[in-house]
Amino acid sequence: MIKRIIGKINPQDHHITIWGAGFSGLILGYYLKDQGYRITIHEKSNRVGGKIQTKKTGQGLAEKGANALYLNKDGLELLRELQLEPMPATKKLRRLLMINGKPKQPFQLSLFSKIISNIYKKPPLISDGLSVAEFFNSLLGEEKIQHYLSPALGGLYATPASQLHFKSLFPQVGKKAQFDSYWSFIKMMIKEKKSEPKLDISGSVSFDGGMQTLINRLAEVLRHDIKLNSKEHFRLKGNTIICTDAISAAELLKDARPEISSELARIKYNSLSSTTVFTKREIKSLNKAFGVLIPLENNFHSIGVINNKAIFPANNENINSYTFISPKNLDANEILKDIQGLSPDFSKVDVQLIETTNWEKALPVYDLQLYLAVKKLHQLLMKETNLAIFGNYVAGISLREMISSAKTFSKNPLEYSELN
Ligand SMILES: Cc1cc2nc3c(=O)[nH]c(=O)nc-3n(C[C@H](O)[C@H](O)[C@H](O)COP(=O)(O)OP(=O)(O)OC[C@H]3O[C@@H](n4cnc5c(N)ncnc54)[C@H](O)[C@@H]3O)c2cc1C
Repeated sequence: MIKRIIGKINPQDHHITIWGAGFSGLILGYYLKDQGYRITIHEKSNRVGGKIQTKKTGQGLAEKGANALYLNKDGLELLRELQLEPMPATKKLRRLLMINGKPKQPFQLSLFSKIISNIYKKPPLISDGLSVAEFFNSLLGEEKIQHYLSPALGGLYATPASQLHFKSLFPQVGKKAQFDSYWSFIKMMIKEKKSEPKLDISGSVSFDGGMQTLINRLAEVLRHDIKLNSKEHFRLKGNTIICTDAISAAELLKDARPEISSELARIKYNSLSSTTVFTKREIKSLNKAFGVLIPLENNFHSIGVINNKAIFPANNENINSYTFISPKNLDANEILKDIQGLSPDFSKVDVQLIETTNWEKALPVYDLQLYLAVKKLHQLLMKETNLAIFGNYVAGISLREMISSAKTFSKNPLEYSELN
């Protein structure tokens, strides 16, 4: 199992102070409380949820950050415990990629034949420094990496494949030094996928009222334990778990644990804007599509567009809603230009409302530097008896992974900390 919470707490001490009420702080607080611990969560802002926030606009819902939870067994059990009804995403939507200026199915013949002809080639040795692009280079070649793999991974990590760190993205390879062929790597991935338990509801889900409903429910359970706008001075007293982004965690620990703090400060973040646009009519090229991923060097400002109505029709009745994700802040003209790139007949009058959120520290950059920092953090926090850190910079950004780790940790924190 991959360790997503680094450090230890003392289970004999039944009080735990958590810093940060984003999803990591809330979910860990929820499970620890369920195990009988007393929890205090300090949140410096005036709201809980961090990068999960749904705004109700005059036109409809706008997700400012995460727009879905990809279910696993623990996720489904959590929703049952919380008595939340999941709203499954529409299945079998087309997933498009911008190819030569047009949204197209990514599995073009040229990509397929490249994979087939190289599938028995031997991938490179899996060293600590290996990037995702280097691993896949003999299979796909530079051009296909740039046009297919980078945008596909960019949709999740907002970082090109040349910077993404192979072992961090594919931790399931464990200590393996090399695969015999790309085919054996693919087989391993398929086997892992197949070993996941079959669930009544699978795939991505949201909720009536959007992702905020999940946050509100967790906040309700923890309502006596959360201190919003907290001005509490940070002290290492009793069990402490830091659930903020790495940069804020570095700031909190700079006096008490300078070595840990300087490792945390090495972790870089991407900034991203998330812009939901309500339009009077549908963007036809995205009809029945989940959305489109856009390679960086195109004439677009965005790296991806999500078709909200197609994915969650019940939350988007009678409206057309698209979310544009971009590495920079976009103004209304830039958004309109991106819409026109998808549908040239669109003009200003077709746009009803634009709702933009800029996240300065949106996602940690999963590069070699992050990998080395996390490795060092594991060593440094081994020596601690009642300090742990948790967040989307440790081992994956997705919410479902956070649920499983928080659940396992809460049941037996000491055993969890001994995991390899
Ligand atoms: C645009 C976007 C789309 C995404 N889409 C998805 C998706 O569809 N599905 C998915 O699974 N994931 C998605 N993610 C990733 C996911 O949203 C994040 O990984 C997750 O929400 C991060 O949670 P966190 O608790 O680690 O951090 P955060 O959400 O950043 O929360 C940290 C909290 O700590 C607080 N804090 C900071 N400093 C202090 C301090 N000194 N004292 C007290 N509190 C402090 C902050 O105010 C904040 O509330 C997306 C992310 C972005 C940006």
